[in-house]
Amino acid sequence: MGSLPSDCFERSKFLFFIVFLVVSLNCLPIKANQCRNNSVATPRIPAYDILLSLQTLALDGYFSLEDNEHAAKDFGNIYHCPPLAILHPKAVSDISRTIKHIFETDSTSELKIAARGHGHSLQGQAQAYQGLVVNMESLEGPEMTVHGGEFPYVDVSAGELWINILHETLKHGLAPKSWTDYLHLTVGGTLSNAGINGQAFRHGPQIDNIFQLEVVTGKGDVLTCSENQNADLFYGVLGGLGQFGIITRARISLEPAPMKVKWIRVLYSEFSIFARDQEYLISLENTFDYVEGFVIINRTGILNNWRSSFNPKDPLQASQFNSDGRTFYSLEVAKYFNPDETEAMNQEVDRLLSELSYIPSTLFLSEVSYVDFQDRVHASEMKLRAKGLWEVPHPWLNLMIPRSGIHEFAHEVFEKILGETSNGPILIYPVNQSRWNNRTSLVTPEEDVFYLVAFLSSAVPFSTGKDSLDYIQRRNERIIEFCERAQLGVKQYLAHHRTQEEWEGHFGTRWQVMRRRKSEYDPLAILAPGHRIFQKPMSTTF
Ligand code: FAD
Repeated sequence: MGSLPSDCFERSKFLFFIVFLVVSLNCLPIKANQCRNNSVATPRIPAYDILLSLQTLALDGYFSLEDNEHAAKDFGNIYHCPPLAILHPKAVSDISRTIKHIFETDSTSELKIAARGHGHSLQGQAQAYQGLVVNMESLEGPEMTVHGGEFPYVDVSAGELWINILHETLKHGLAPKSWTDYLHLTVGGTLSNAGINGQAFRHGPQIDNIFQLEVVTGKGDVLTCSENQNADLFYGVLGGLGQFGIITRARISLEPAPMKVKWIRVLYSEFSIFARDQEYLISLENTFDYVEGFVIINRTGILNNWRSSFNPKDPLQASQFNSDGRTFYSLEVAKYFNPDETEAMNQEVDRLLSELSYIPSTLFLSEVSYVDFQDRVHASEMKLRAKGLWEVPHPWLNLMIPRSGIHEFAHEVFEKILGETSNGPILIYPVNQSRWNNRTSLVTPEEDVFYLVAFLSSAVPFSTGKDSLDYIQRRNERIIEFCERAQLGVKQYLAHHRTQEEWEGHFGTRWQVMRRRKSEYDPLAILAPGHRIFQKPMSTTF
């Protein structure tokens, strides 16, 4: 698609198209209705007027007005909110001019804008119902550049995928310190959430490993920000769910990259022993580089499934192990090393393992390259795609649970609410937030140690059973209701709330700061409507 039409004939065609679009959108069934919020009226004509007037802008990129269905989809595959148009920016100025134009023309802010990274959100967070989606992956900019020295870093465009950053930085023997489990996500997408995985107990989430950002605010201003420059915006944007600006560039902290990874899995049948060992490992100075874990419910032949990637330490004992459909807890750890450190690494691994209380016959080990380890989920993606199982609905639920409540949670949820079905992997691992930066917008439980528990469910389309979207969503609701009833102090990660009141509860004492920042950086509440946090323009006084 080209840019917006400019002559009179094209204008009338465009208006006809807009009217057609309005009629069609109003006819869309149930799923699009989820995009509307009771407190938000469907945009009236001004949104389309503004879209029309955007044609006067001189941009390097372009707007597309048709064939935009993909922007009404995400990995969650539950919300489908069609935008009116997509901006494919080439330069940062394309984004800033567009936002400035909307900000200066539309004082009632009826045209909302959502930045879209790789579209791996779960509940429409990167969508803009009848608004404008900015395709961050089309942004061209200075090439990715790696800088060495005492504090090495890489400068990247916010639409860059983490997997590309891994490959580029490895050419310099360096790599980012903190990762997500899956790397086909954009920098802007994970930095607006947090970016957490089994390395976060040591380095903090990805948002704690950023030196500098370039941001386009909701007024269209392009600002560079860091700990020492525009610090309020810097910390606001990190974990800020896209509410205060669109990240266009990031300077990411690096460290020397290892070449290899010793990757280990073991099983526990008692949750309390599993949790004790996990907490012990993250409390140590000299420990594994990565600590995660998962819950295995009602599965037989667990160890056989591991054999494609791992080798049993004791094959005979392993072959005699019978999981018998019980619930198990698997600790997954990794130690990074270079080939010349193999002997010392093996001794260190043996020492650490000797302090744990797992079921001895279930010790499985593997050695892989650092790249293969970091990109491990992509291999699963390929298998699921081949079977048509990647593009199904994903009613995921991610919770952060204070250590004091994890045993009650495990008892009630793993043993009772889940029963015998889990509908997908359940990750569980603790982190120490004393090593995290508490100035970002990310909201976490109040205790130092908390667990990340991720129910990574897939629903079977058209099913009416326990694997249906409806059933899993109701089960998720029961888990959330239990957490509230038991007052465990749980927070959602990649949070999904329906009303402003629920968001107020989520942010707790930080709500006023969120409001103040919104009024300062996006006073018309133009940005990131998919979260449904701020639906109205913000007054500027607090
Ligand atoms: P999108 O879905 O495109 O956008 C996400 C949000 O960020 C939206 O609100 C969007 O408007 C906003 N946004 C996007 N780009 C920008 C920008 N440049 N500036 C400002 N706001 C922007 N998360 C973890 O923390 N750890 C994990 O291990 C992990 N594993 C995952 C595995 C899979 C298979 C999937 C699908 C997701 C996983 N996630 C994980 C969640 C993931 O981090 C988030 O869903 C993330 O937002 C996806 O990035 P994206 O580029 O697809 O963002």
